[in-house]
Amino acid sequence: MKSKTKHKSLIIIGGGSGGLALAGRMARLGLQVGIIDHYAQLGGDCLHLGCVPSKTLLAIAKQGIEGDWEQIKQHINQVRERIQPRYSQQYVEQLGCEVVIGSPKFIDPNQVAIFSRDNLSHVIWQAPKIVIATGTRPMILPVPGLDKTETYTNETIYNLESLPKSMVIIGAGVTGIEFAQAFQRLGVKVTVLVHSERILRTLDKQASELLSAVLKKEGIEIYTRAKIKQATKVNAHKINLVIEHQDTLMTLETEVVFLATGRLPNIENLDLDQAGVPYHAQGIIVDGYFRTKAKHIYAIGDVIAWPHRYAHMAEYSAKIVSRHLYLKNFAPKANLNWVPGVIFTQPEIGSLGLTEQEAQEKKIAYDILYWEFKALDRAIIDSRPQGFIKLLLVKQKVVGATVVCERAGEILAELGLLMQKNLPIQAILETIHAYPTWGESLQRAIQAYLDKQQDKQVMPYFIPWKIISWFCKR
Ligand SMILES: Cc1cc2nc3c(=O)[nH]c(=O)nc-3n(C[C@H](O)[C@H](O)[C@H](O)COP(=O)(O)OP(=O)(O)OC[C@H]3O[C@@H](n4cnc5c(N)ncnc54)[C@H](O)[C@@H]3O)c2cc1C
Repeated sequence: MKSKTKHKSLIIIGGGSGGLALAGRMARLGLQVGIIDHYAQLGGDCLHLGCVPSKTLLAIAKQGIEGDWEQIKQHINQVRERIQPRYSQQYVEQLGCEVVIGSPKFIDPNQVAIFSRDNLSHVIWQAPKIVIATGTRPMILPVPGLDKTETYTNETIYNLESLPKSMVIIGAGVTGIEFAQAFQRLGVKVTVLVHSERILRTLDKQASELLSAVLKKEGIEIYTRAKIKQATKVNAHKINLVIEHQDTLMTLETEVVFLATGRLPNIENLDLDQAGVPYHAQGIIVDGYFRTKAKHIYAIGDVIAWPHRYAHMAEYSAKIVSRHLYLKNFAPKANLNWVPGVIFTQPEIGSLGLTEQEAQEKKIAYDILYWEFKALDRAIIDSRPQGFIKLLLVKQKVVGATVVCERAGEILAELGLLMQKNLPIQAILETIHAYPTWGESLQRAIQAYLDKQQDKQVMPYFIPWKIISWFCKR
């Protein structure tokens, strides 16, 4: 086997959302950055198999067109192609990075061997700092017979040759629920199976119940507390699924199965033990600077053992690492108190910080601001009055937020700023919000809450005054 050693300032393993964000930052500062990816096209899950295609599919489905699947796939590819240049090998090479496509393995804490596709040759890269950004892949449920059926994941769903008549989606987290609404709206009869009591179980209960009702109204069947026991392919268009639903066995028929049962970190082939990097089944263990136990090796993005598997969190972790590489321990640590997340269904659900359940578990004494979108002119104009804003407040500061509405994702940004700057909710009232916008909702909600608070304070004086004035009038 041929091998030669190259020296880099920084090696990044994985060229997806996190790896590329970090590469760009460090290359601009003049570091010699090497990127290794085992897939021929950089960009990672978000561009190729995650955010971009799924949000495009949802956008098409939202238009209410029962589509020609070939045209839909073509459109998804066009969207990918338009976004791809910012995440391409050419782009990072222009910034001064070197890219190698191959399979990396740690030889020791500072050296990585990169094997060619045919495994016949390898190069060795050496660096004082190494960052692992290899993301995740779908977890495949070990159900008897499932491997012999038409089973898809977010990685393979775009290989479907035509839209099936029916689809059973196993799993009701973000991926399962987004695809459920998209396919149902495209004319597929969708059934969702979930083993927990409700869909989107980590979100605010009221939000998940509202969305569940919307999905059921659109025709999606949802089986909660359901477990799949056995799959049998009957013919090319029919799969029988034996499920245990609320302690009863039953059989469902479907044309295809879609698995959305969680993610596994891409760590198996990296020989992490050679580098002294600790990990477990959920991912790599890191500290507040995203350093592993081997202090010169970092992990960013989805490969970390954390629940924040979003493209923006991959970028955020890249930002924290880039600062730490320069400023060492003078750099700020990650703050995970206001991580935003959005489910891009219609209505959207946006969440930030704590849910009520989490605040109760942490025994935080909070007050609730609750306001409904039926009082927002924009929502009435758009005929989308469904949804609410729920803020958890401690001393008039937001510690958690759930927003359900057409544009919930956009409304989170202003709330995030409020939390990050530790500002009280009154700060929102100082900003002029354009009328009639979705963003105006926050101002309306806070004003209504503060008015109510004021009424409560005034009420004890108001009632005796009313009585006195009544006597005076007599
Ligand atoms: C269906 C779906 C929809 C999503 N929608 C959203 C959304 O709307 N908004 C959002 O914020 N997030 C969304 N996400 C999550 C988002 O895609 C991820 O959080 C993001 O891609 C994580 O970035 P990353 O850099 O950690 O990993 P990735 O972007 O996955 O990049 C990992 C890179 O590492 C490479 N790699 C993997 N293993 C190896 C190896 N052994 N050696 C070398 N290279 C390797 C891969 O080829 C890839 O290029 C979605 C995910 C899915 C699955």
